[in-house]
Amino acid sequence: MSLLVINDRAYLEHAPGNWPEGPHRLEAVWMALAETGVKEALVFEPPEPAREEDLALVHTERHIDRIRRFARAGGGYLTLDTVVSAESFDVALLAVGGALKALEAVLSGRTVRSAALVRPPGHHATPEEGMGFCLFNNVAVAAAHARKRRGLERVMIIDWDLHHGNGTEAAFYASPGVLFVSCHESPAYPGTGWLTDTGEGEGEGYTVNLPLPPGSGDRTYREAFETVIAPVARAYRPEVILVSCGLDAHYLDPIGRLRLSTGGYGELSAIVCGLADELCQGRVVFVLEGGYDVVGLGWGMASILNVASGRGGPIPEPEGYDPPEPQDEPLSASSRLDDIRSVQQEYWPV
Ligand SMILES: [Zn+2]
Repeated sequence: MSLLVINDRAYLEHAPGNWPEGPHRLEAVWMALAETGVKEALVFEPPEPAREEDLALVHTERHIDRIRRFARAGGGYLTLDTVVSAESFDVALLAVGGALKALEAVLSGRTVRSAALVRPPGHHATPEEGMGFCLFNNVAVAAAHARKRRGLERVMIIDWDLHHGNGTEAAFYASPGVLFVSCHESPAYPGTGWLTDTGEGEGEGYTVNLPLPPGSGDRTYREAFETVIAPVARAYRPEVILVSCGLDAHYLDPIGRLRLSTGGYGELSAIVCGLADELCQGRVVFVLEGGYDVVGLGWGMASILNVASGRGGPIPEPEGYDPPEPQDEPLSASSRLDDIRSVQQEYWPV
């Protein structure tokens, strides 16, 4: 068994300085993939840079021009939280290109599943602006490519980054052709993703937000996937599943307060791969988003890819680390899931 992974050392060249979203994140993933042995099950290929017409599937010309000019002028603070270096525009093209190549490999039948280990991340980038460490929306451009150029009618995006994928939601809020499902901590940055935000116009019902309270962990996620996300997916019947694969819901993460374990990430990977096997010939593409603890990020990703590659099951914590206890998850998590189900019942058989 093996899994195609799009990755490149060039992703280190987006260098915003001493910042949580830095090149050290990819190095942490590489180290964990080697330490756990998962690397042996992966086949690595480099990305091709996206073209500006690819970006324009989602982003405005004004936004594309602004990022290009800002980076070429040496960069700096694009927003309070988003730093750009001189190389960032070119690296961002490679990040979008990585997601596109991973998707194309799956759509062409060259492989069943794939992953794109890219940076900068993308899911906060809206059609008009970059924010939250994101310049262009890698997953959104891939989804738009599948819809507009490859003629797919139903693309599902599962965003399990700790933060709400506001940029992806904005790109497809009025579209039934892209079902956007997001599990995220609430309240937290960027303050969007309310459970009653369900899409608009023809897209009404095709945005599914699962805002989870701090302290939610493996047990809450499993219930969310089994009682909401899986039934929604079965009713929608996607032709491909894209995962906005953030690792900041890991319990070691310094930014987040959700408490997924290393094994818990592997279990989510198994659920999504199982849904893809059942619904869309196994076609699933994982695209790296956030994750800011080097151990949580690296080992969580190793656990996800171990399952996706077919090499084995979820990977337990590294030696010396104890996963959080499921019985410590807050009662508010189960009542929040009740609220989520009662909103979604209007649209889906949950
Ligand atoms: Zn995040």
